[in-house]
Amino acid sequence: MARTIMISETFGVTIQGEGALIGKPTVFVRTGGCEFRCSWCDTLYAVLPEHKSEWTPMTAEEIMVEVRRLSGNKPILVTLSGGNPAIQPLEELIDLGHAEGYTFAIETQGSVAQSWFAKLDYLTLSPKPPSSEQETRWERLDRCIDYARNGHAAGIPQICLKVVIFDDKDFAYARYVAERYPDIPLYLQAGNHTPPHVASEIDIPGILNRMDWLIQRVTEEQWYNVTVLPQLHTLLWGNRRGV
Ligand code: SF4
Repeated sequence: MARTIMISETFGVTIQGEGALIGKPTVFVRTGGCEFRCSWCDTLYAVLPEHKSEWTPMTAEEIMVEVRRLSGNKPILVTLSGGNPAIQPLEELIDLGHAEGYTFAIETQGSVAQSWFAKLDYLTLSPKPPSSEQETRWERLDRCIDYARNGHAAGIPQICLKVVIFDDKDFAYARYVAERYPDIPLYLQAGNHTPPHVASEIDIPGILNRMDWLIQRVTEEQWYNVTVLPQLHTLLWGNRRGV
């Protein structure tokens, strides 16, 4: 019997709003379930068990039917997000999609390593800084990178790190991330404090001020091999779902 993947939502085509693939047209496949409880999580509907009844168990083939429909049968970048997509059995989906020319990116906090990371085209690891009130298990993050590389020093998947920054402690955490993984591109992004799913109350001036502060911190410290980005989708659409 085919294994099922817990799906919270699928949507697109839209653009990737953050990280190394910012601006790229993509279809999103958001899985349900996450072992973290970040204080500022903006996708609690894909995290908390009380939302389980809204999630659908789907086979890889059923997800591909949906991906084909959304993309108009045109191979495109598929972004696997969550929740934590790394806790789902996604290998078959990646194999099926690759056979048709789709490419796959995943976004995960790096708490669970899977051997199928080596099959991805892009792996974004977003360890959570102190403001999230979660603990980083560094050896697990190391393992995610090792599994993705699977013996290749460089190449597929392209790996990047992304850290959301709210304050000085988060900034110091990001500095440590850069020190620990000097050969992996690092993206910093100004965090969004707005409570989940309150699109009309997004604090755009607050986000832009934080972004301004972050750029100043980076330049003051002459930290020139990092990339500072906004969460483009938050600026455009707030916390609205499905875009
Ligand atoms: S790891 Fe991501 S999905 Fe999970 S609680 Fe934190 S922000 Fe939300």
